[in-house]
Amino acid sequence: MKFFFLIFLSLFVCSGLSAQQFDLVPLGVLGGEHEDNLSSYLLSVHGDDRYLCLDAGTINAGLRKAIMTKSLKGGQEDLLKNNIKGYFISHGHLDHLAGLVMNSPADAPKNIYAIAPVIEIFKSHYFISSTWANFADSGEQPAINKYHYVPLTPKTPVPVENTPFRLTAYELSHVNPYLSSAALVSAGENYILYLGDTGADRIERSEKLGELWHAVAPLIRSGNLKTIMIEVSFPNKQPEKLLFGHLTPALLNEELAKLAAALGTSSLKGVTVVVTHRKPPIQNVKLISEELLNKNPLQVNYVFPEQGRKIVLP
Ligand SMILES: [Zn+2]
Ligand SMILES: [Zn+2]
Repeated sequence: MKFFFLIFLSLFVCSGLSAQQFDLVPLGVLGGEHEDNLSSYLLSVHGDDRYLCLDAGTINAGLRKAIMTKSLKGGQEDLLKNNIKGYFISHGHLDHLAGLVMNSPADAPKNIYAIAPVIEIFKSHYFISSTWANFADSGEQPAINKYHYVPLTPKTPVPVENTPFRLTAYELSHVNPYLSSAALVSAGENYILYLGDTGADRIERSEKLGELWHAVAPLIRSGNLKTIMIEVSFPNKQPEKLLFGHLTPALLNEELAKLAAALGTSSLKGVTVVVTHRKPPIQNVKLISEELLNKNPLQVNYVFPEQGRKIVLP
């Protein structure tokens, strides 16, 4: 009897609040220059090997590194073909999709999830015969019919084929009126929020981030959303006129304060913020981390991802 009680107790503890929900394998983490380390993150349910790829700046170099560090098992070709089940592409800039285009000949058929303007950019600039070949199933002819575009209507969830995930897109402003987007990804009751490149609402003269914070506040309050992946491209010394639709540590704090206000609290304790898209030179990459850690008024838990090193998220 005691034995069964102990089993029951340990099951209860395992499924408690501190349970590990997601695995994140960064294939690329920087916001420029290092063409072998640009925004790309494999997301799976903890312990699962079916991945949704969040942006695809770098693929192959990231897979090789992740195999070396034992964050991924298997060979790079097999992982590309069989374990990456689909791509979410946040916007049309090269540093978020070059890896997908370059690896398309070696890839297997799968879906590309993106808001309509991003799919248009693929069709008119990348999957065309003057720059590459059309590996998708619509757009310029002849088409190789490998990738299928799934246009995302903002705020409307869609299932991610061959994964346990559902994905909801939100628009972001990345030098207004140029659109980037965020993906709110869920598996059962658990959520994670990934943002593509974005400026702050005040600089962008936009309300996109404010709307996103209001949309996700109830999920944070209920404990279903614990991780936000967001860019910080420049250190605080970058003049506001030269942000090109990006955030600094101070601007991230400005936006996080709005999220806290939407929650009706003054702290975001318990929320993990994975910092993406820090732009080289490498002194700046370090400086951004220092500035975030030195001034953390909302008390978030910062994570600075490294290429090829798996992160287990609550
Ligand atoms: Zn961009
Ligand atoms: Zn970018």
